[in-house]
Order: sequence, then C-alpha cells, then structure tokens
Amino acid sequence: MTITHRTGSYDITFQDVGVALADARPQDVIVTDENLDRYYRSAFPGDTLVVVVAPGEPSKSLATYEAVCNQMFAAGRSRSSRVYAFGGGVVGDLAGFVAATYMRGVPCIQCPTSLLAMVDSSIGGKVGIDTEYGKNLLGAFAPPAAVRIPLDSIGTLPDREFVNGTAEVWKYGFIGNQGLLTRLQKSPVRGSDDDLQEVVESCLAQKAAVVEADEFETTGLRATLNFGHTVGHAIEAVAGYGAILHGEAISIGMVVETQIAEATGIALRGLASIVEEGLRSQGLPTAIPSQVDATELIASMRRDKKATAGKLAFSLLTDLTVCKLYEDVPEDEVRRVLGC
Ligand code: ADP
Ligand code: ZN
Repeated sequence: MTITHRTGSYDITFQDVGVALADARPQDVIVTDENLDRYYRSAFPGDTLVVVVAPGEPSKSLATYEAVCNQMFAAGRSRSSRVYAFGGGVVGDLAGFVAATYMRGVPCIQCPTSLLAMVDSSIGGKVGIDTEYGKNLLGAFAPPAAVRIPLDSIGTLPDREFVNGTAEVWKYGFIGNQGLLTRLQKSPVRGSDDDLQEVVESCLAQKAAVVEADEFETTGLRATLNFGHTVGHAIEAVAGYGAILHGEAISIGMVVETQIAEATGIALRGLASIVEEGLRSQGLPTAIPSQVDATELIASMRRDKKATAGKLAFSLLTDLTVCKLYEDVPEDEVRRVLGC
C-alpha cells in the first residue's frame, strides 16, 4: 500500500522483525524502548547503533529527545544516517521527531510494534513530544520514508496493550468502514486471528484515504479520526496519564460522545448502545471510571483547541459509519449527559 502526502509518499509493507531491520547500516540508528530491546535485541544488526529509551509516555520529553540526539552526535551519526523507530507509539513519535529535526532532517523508517501504532500513529506523518503544558505540543508533520509493520511482534505485546489498540480499530469501523465494522461485530479481533493483517490493512486504507484528502486538517475530514477523542483526551488528562491507556479512554469517549449525539438529536436513540455493545465484546471499558470527576472533564474539554465560549467541539456519529465534526455543541447538553 502506498500513501501519498503533499509532502511526499511512502510505502507501507508487512515485514517480520528480522526483515524490517535487516537493512539498517552501521551509520544508521535504531531507536527502541527497554521492553522491545529485551525481546528483539538479537534481531538488530550487530553494528548498528541502538538507542534504548524507557518505556512509556514520559519518554516523549525534551530531556529524552536531547538524550537520543546526543547519543547520535557522540556516535558520529550524520545527515546520511537513517532512523529506525522500532516500538510503540511513544518510540514512533519520539524517534520520528528526532529524525525530522536531526541535522534538519534525516529519513525515518517506522517499524510499529504495538497494535495502536500499527493502525494509527505510525502513519499520517505527525511526530512530536510532550511538554509540561500538554501532549504533542512540540512536533512536526514529517512523513516517514517507509512504514514496515512487523506483525510477528504482536506475539509479545501484553494483552492489555493489544486490547487498547483495538479501540482505534473499532473507531475506523464506526466512522466509516462498514466492512471492518461487520467483521468486528461478528467477533472481536484477537492477536492470533488469521485475518489480523487484513484488519490492520483495512484500518490503514481508511486512515490513508482520510489523511490524503485532508493532510493538514483544514476541511474537517481528518477531524473525524478524532471520534471519541475529545472526551477520551479529557479522561486521560483527568485520570492522570498512564492510569487509563489511550485506547481505553477513547473507548469510553466513543460511547459518551455517541450519547451526546443522541441527546442533541444528531443521532437516533439506540446508537450509543450499539457502540457500547461492540466495545464491550472486545473487552474495552465503556463507562467513565468513578475516580474521574465529570466537572473536571468539562473543564479539560474546554481547554481543547477547537472549543469556543459555551460550546465544545466533537466528531460525532450521525449513524453507524457516518461521522461529522460539530464545533458548536452546547456545553449544557454535554453536562446533562455527564450528569453534572
Ligand atoms: P502505544 O500504545 O502508543 O503504542 P507505547 O509505545 O507506550 O504506546 O507502547 C505500549 C507498551 O507496550 C510499552 O510498554 C511498550 O514497551 C510495549 N510494547 C510495544 N510493542 C510491544 C511488543 N511488540 N512486544 C512487547 N511489548 C511491546
Ligand atoms: Zn487515538
């Protein structure tokens, strides 16, 4: 599959870990995290520099960015080096940002190892790190040179992380991919499924179509990928990053946002329970955890870039497989749904 951005095009292929990293040269660098390093070190070409960061969101920081760059400077990596991002979304975003900026930019080969990164963050060309003021506040639109998906690495992905990634898979189904949705409603996706590659490809084809049509988020189309994310991001922020995983938060977000769509008459009654049933069959959470305060959620959503006075912005389902950006949902309606 080839993805074309105005800023370049790249191929997405499925390659086992050993193959995906096999052409790394001595002057290149593999950026990965401690978990992946532990499982796959023997697959890294012996003479390629490997930079290992701590697993988890805190590694998407200026400090880690600087540490990775410094290891590359110290090892004499040059403008002719390539960066292999071998890991989940954290490694992909961090290493992608390193590649986008190292000596004004070197090629990045994304090798996503988590389901979430395979279906979502490794394509689209958004890379970046977090600051104390918020997530992804420093970054770039920098398409990778290639995306190589090592599906075999799913074998070591912890179950909770796999299920976490399925939330984005369901999202693609809900916002427009009828074939995928029917497949998921028949039976939830598992790491051992024979059609796992087809499921991932189906997600990628959809993201590619949306990103190609609205690369820089100007028409509202790319915003439909944010279904579940206005509420989901707020849940992540209020619960404290890491307490609830991204996919878990957007699973709850998709249910709550569909309840909002019902309450405002955008969707017919009953849609939210269809969404909820699917996500629950997959083992994803569907209700706001008791430790998350609804008033704090509203406050957090108000800080969203698209929010204006008294109105909140959501990408909402009008029906199954139909999603639209609404930038003026009255805050009062949202409060009613959240019961605060
Ligand atoms: P994301 O969910 O955005 O991909 P991370 O990059 O933090 O987030 O990855 C989630 C967790 O899963 C991390 O602890 C990471 O080390 C681990 N992980 C990612 N891919 C694999 C894999 N194939 N095998 C084992 N652990 C993995
Ligand atoms: Zn997401």
